[in-house]
Amino acid sequence: MEKLQQVYEGKAKKVYATSDPELFIVDYKDDATAFNGEKKGTINQKGIINNRVTNHLMKLLEKNGVPTHLVEEISDRETIVKKVTIVPLEVIVRNIAAGSLSKRLGLPEGTKMKQTVLEYCYKDDELGDPMINDYHIFALDLATQEELDLIAKYSFKVNEVLSAYLKDLNIELIDFKLEFGKTTDGTIILADEISPDTCRFWDTVTGEKLDKDRFRRDLGGEEDAYKEIMKRLLGE
Ligand code: ADP
Ligand code: UDP
Repeated sequence: MEKLQQVYEGKAKKVYATSDPELFIVDYKDDATAFNGEKKGTINQKGIINNRVTNHLMKLLEKNGVPTHLVEEISDRETIVKKVTIVPLEVIVRNIAAGSLSKRLGLPEGTKMKQTVLEYCYKDDELGDPMINDYHIFALDLATQEELDLIAKYSFKVNEVLSAYLKDLNIELIDFKLEFGKTTDGTIILADEISPDTCRFWDTVTGEKLDKDRFRRDLGGEEDAYKEIMKRLLGE
């Protein structure tokens, strides 16, 4: 299968049409951005790592009952996926306080919370992806009650499966962002990516950050951190 016209270029990936109207090819870039595009840079080999890590985790999720857009990895940086209409939500799952939640609620990073937190942000770069709740989602007709129930159910399942899997690799899953989409027949599936760009991964022993916070916060060593994640997950 070949790439035809580019349908979208985002901050981290390019999306191409294919000869099959139901399929896209995503092409992962090394470009890194943070703070809604204000900070720009590159992380060497990031595209390769995020492509491979995403597909590895999506395969595991499929096996555990979460439908995903994954069809086939066709090169280091490229994957065939089911074309979906993205539900314009960033679904954030949080096990441990960090990042914007720590700031907003005054909880020091690393604080254990009594239960998992699910948040929704409206996916709109111009507005800076504001946090919204289910009432906003229905008022703006971003999803139906049934769709949102399924999205929440899948998100908790993703958390359960990935937290357990990563724990065995000495990685603590602090929080992460998911995107869901609708196929042409209206089925809700997990789309986009699951990678060190979209998750906070902390080493369970040393507490070291093995994710994009190294880039966001100028901690250095982002290349090695991404490589370490790939090594622990894929053994290479
Ligand atoms: P951004 O748009 O935030 O800059 P990316 O660079 O990752 O992000 O761009 C990839 C785009 O493709 C995102 O807007 C994402 O919602 C979208 N996308 C991901 N998976 C699919 C899919 N299976 N079908 C259609 N669009 C998708
Ligand atoms: N996240 C993401 N894309 C976004 C915003 C957040 O992938 O546009 C991820 C982020 O990597 C982290 C989680 O969602 O794992 C929670 O992020 P947070 O709200 O703390 O925002 P940040 O601190 O990244 O601004």
